[in-house]
Amino acid sequence: MNNAQLPPTCMVDARLVRLTTDVWSRLPNTVKPLIVRKVRVIAEVDSWDAFTTGELRKLGINRNLARWRETLGVIEISRSDCDGVEDLAVLGAIVHEFGHACQVMSRKGDVASAEKAADATSVEWGFAKEIAALEKQRCIDNQG
Ligand SMILES: [Zn+2]
Repeated sequence: MNNAQLPPTCMVDARLVRLTTDVWSRLPNTVKPLIVRKVRVIAEVDSWDAFTTGELRKLGINRNLARWRETLGVIEISRSDCDGVEDLAVLGAIVHEFGHACQVMSRKGDVASAEKAADATSVEWGFAKEIAALEKQRCIDNQG
């Protein structure tokens, strides 16, 4: 299982495909089997649905590059939210979602610590620059 393949993807945007493939190629091989078990599909969406957008706005979040939908086992990446954002931050968002996928369910009740843990896991995997870029992007986008 050392050369586990990227989970199935449903993406048309060439840039998002390239960035997702890049993250996968750089992940430690030891974590890939777990991710393959938990992530059923990595899907591109044009934009978030109106409900999600409303919920994000309530939290002061004006842009959300990607999300992990644990109950579905789906990582969603928003093409429109990634537009105009530097590659480094998008790479950070993708690895962050892989980090979430490796978390155990019990973290679910505490959103803030789950977010920190996903960032910390990503840094452990060698993505410190990408997480710093993602954090910078969050500061630009969010006034929550
Ligand atoms: Zn997160």
